[in-house]
Amino acid sequence: MNAYLASVLENVKTKHAGEPEFVQTVEEVFSSLEPVIEKHPEYEKYDLLNRMVEPDRMFTFRVVWEDDNGKWHTNRGWRCQFNGAIGPYKGGLRFQKNVYEGIIKFLGFEQTFKNSLTGLPIGGGKGGSDFDPAGKSDAEVMRFCQAFMSALYRYIGPDVDVPAGDMGVGGREIGYLFGQYRRLKGVWENGVLTGKGLSYGGSLIRPEATGYGAIYYLCEVLKHENDSIEGKRIATSGYGNVAWGIMKKAAELGAKVTYFSGPDGYVHDPDGVITEEKLNYILEMRATDPMHCKPYADHFGCEFVEGAKPWGATDVDIIMPAATQNDVTMESAEKIAASGVKYYIEVANMPTTNDALNFLRAQKHMIVAPSKAVNAGGVGVSALEMSQNSERLVWTAEEVDAQLKKMMINIHKVSAEAAEQYGLGYDLVAGGNIAGFLKVAEAMLEQGCF
Ligand code: GLU
Repeated sequence: MNAYLASVLENVKTKHAGEPEFVQTVEEVFSSLEPVIEKHPEYEKYDLLNRMVEPDRMFTFRVVWEDDNGKWHTNRGWRCQFNGAIGPYKGGLRFQKNVYEGIIKFLGFEQTFKNSLTGLPIGGGKGGSDFDPAGKSDAEVMRFCQAFMSALYRYIGPDVDVPAGDMGVGGREIGYLFGQYRRLKGVWENGVLTGKGLSYGGSLIRPEATGYGAIYYLCEVLKHENDSIEGKRIATSGYGNVAWGIMKKAAELGAKVTYFSGPDGYVHDPDGVITEEKLNYILEMRATDPMHCKPYADHFGCEFVEGAKPWGATDVDIIMPAATQNDVTMESAEKIAASGVKYYIEVANMPTTNDALNFLRAQKHMIVAPSKAVNAGGVGVSALEMSQNSERLVWTAEEVDAQLKKMMINIHKVSAEAAEQYGLGYDLVAGGNIAGFLKVAEAMLEQGCF
């Protein structure tokens, strides 16, 4: 690694010793930047990289709420406004027991490059809480969301910072958050949040957008390889919004998801999740129990393997991890490489550990695509939701879907071109990092030294 990159990375490791996920994501992005830093000495001259790894600002706040039994709870909330050079901060909120500052920071850093790749004017941000949504009643979730927004509202706005959903935050939570924002501010600013319900300014296709976008990106990879999606078998992880969108779009295009997983284990359905009945069953299963996918196997009479992940199955053509960070470790990567599968398409934010990712990228028979490009359709459609809100218009599902498809084709194209330009061949990981980085870097320098 180039000496300047190495020195900034050292600095990050020292400052963020207790935040391994943040160190991991910086290391991953930096591993692609060597040729860029060498070609642009001004980045070192203005110490751009030390600026880029430091969030613009980050808020920590207390969130106090009362449960149904009259017991009071205190959680911690965060909003990280990581980089606002190319647009208002934009990124989701994650409510999960394991959330701490390092998770929010890593997601905010990733978001900055991802949002840049969409080609739309959105900066990078992220937020969340260590609130555990598991087993909470609807009223408890509402009270928590209201308490969370009571602290957050002063930091956000349609031209300032626009949160959305992430793990543990879906349409229901966004509704309660928006209701509280409106009550506190006394204004109709529905551009302040995305992922809203359709009755108050949500965008058609937003819930499916991340999964659909991932499949559109995959189609571009397949096209590049003179291959097609028709008849392909896909192994994914998770069965939330994102994995569900993958299942639905894959089925529409003649492919099938034959493996998916939950926290309890994985399901193998060789016929694929392709019928409306199966897709609807998954929606219901997720709404009633986000922790177990075994009921699907019981209901449709297919195999369920407890406590395991589907990585390494030999009867698939494409792998799309879509659950959470560090889902694929070195041990799984070795199995994946040995299985002979060609396409490894990351979908969740940072689903692969760095050693596993480098190992997979080094496999001659494999093509690896990075999540910050593949899953960018979600936040991309969020930006389209912001456009609709500011125009006071509602676009048709066809219009949104067409824009999403165009966006994904372009993200693949700019990534492939960036890698090519730096002599790296068809390296989508490096290309995505470089293309995302260059736009933010240019915007920062053109706006002066801060
Ligand atoms: N949480 C999603 C992501 O990781 C979506 C963010 C958004 O729509 O603002 O990109």
